[in-house]
Amino acid sequence: MIAFVVNSGSSSIKWELLDVDSGERMRGGIVERIGENGVDHAGAMRVILEELGGGHPDVIGHRVVHGGSRFTTATIVTDEVERAIEELSALAPLHNPANLLGIRAAREAFPGVPNVAVFDTAFHQSIGPAAYTYAIDSAVAEEHGVRRYGFHGTSYQFVSARAAELLGRPLDELRLIVLHLGNGASACAIDGGRSVDTSMGLTPLEGLVMGTRSGDIDAGILFHLGRAGYSLADLDALLNRRSGLTGLAGGNDMRDVLAGVDAGDAASILAFDVYVHRLRRYIGAYLATLGGVDAIVFTAGVGENAARVREAALAGMEWAGIRLDGERNAVRGTTVVSADDSPVAVLVVPTNEELEIARQAAALV
Ligand code: AMP
Repeated sequence: MIAFVVNSGSSSIKWELLDVDSGERMRGGIVERIGENGVDHAGAMRVILEELGGGHPDVIGHRVVHGGSRFTTATIVTDEVERAIEELSALAPLHNPANLLGIRAAREAFPGVPNVAVFDTAFHQSIGPAAYTYAIDSAVAEEHGVRRYGFHGTSYQFVSARAAELLGRPLDELRLIVLHLGNGASACAIDGGRSVDTSMGLTPLEGLVMGTRSGDIDAGILFHLGRAGYSLADLDALLNRRSGLTGLAGGNDMRDVLAGVDAGDAASILAFDVYVHRLRRYIGAYLATLGGVDAIVFTAGVGENAARVREAALAGMEWAGIRLDGERNAVRGTTVVSADDSPVAVLVVPTNEELEIARQAAALV
């Protein structure tokens, strides 16, 4: 079965053609600068259609950022599903409308091919009320859909299944802490294959320190800055684009932060320390939530590549049965980086969200 995977943003469409059975990526590309020169999403999709040379996929899988409380699993796109995704735009104003443009363009360009929406939030719908409820006026929360939804769900599904495979144990017996550390970063506690807590919330702003996002802050900071004259747009830009590693060290790339640490740059050292401190806080929280852990899994750009982040994140956790093997951890491409006598396995598992979207889409048709 051949799947066409679409990740439609406001100004670009990333796509991949995959053989679902072998997992092989056959073709892929990105159409950028949509919105400029009069090219819209439908036009971009026609460009992709031409690149595919008339070959038709069996199924089209779309990344959709926000599925709210309504979508608990991947779903075949109908007009009604499109309307629901549109209604959920209030929760993800930058992403859902752009995702929807990709869906509409694909339905038009590939008539007769089923389209499947795969939601970043769906995997976290298993989280219980104690973990997803914010302690605010419940009537306000209800009216505005304010609760924790969580993101990166597609990545967590892929990585947790792969971790179980690597450990040679059934996923439904495993307690996992998965750390998806990319430019956007989050953590997830997974019990028996079900998400039981995650660090991102109503939006992807909450939780870990990220490339340009602050992660957790005291909400009182917003009032403080608001009284000092910051507008909502200013605060949005500050927390989403000028915070995290960018805010502390001047750039969002962990490689530059690590180079700064080596050079003795005080701002880089602080950025690294804040990043790691937050990460360890979540690991500790999820150890408590899960009542112990069978494996800690690192994934995405930083998690897969930055050995020093992994080392610092887990340093001194032998008391919890977590023993990293320094040499294994230092070698890029190593999968099991814990010591042989470590009760808790530590794994590095490259994520593949496109393949997971392709698999979920294929499974539905
Ligand atoms: P992602 O969002 O998963 O593509 O991750 C992108 C981020 O991974 C980049 O912004 C870098 O901060 C980080 N990254 C990529 N390669 C490395 C590396 N070799 N060492 C440290 N960080 C890296």
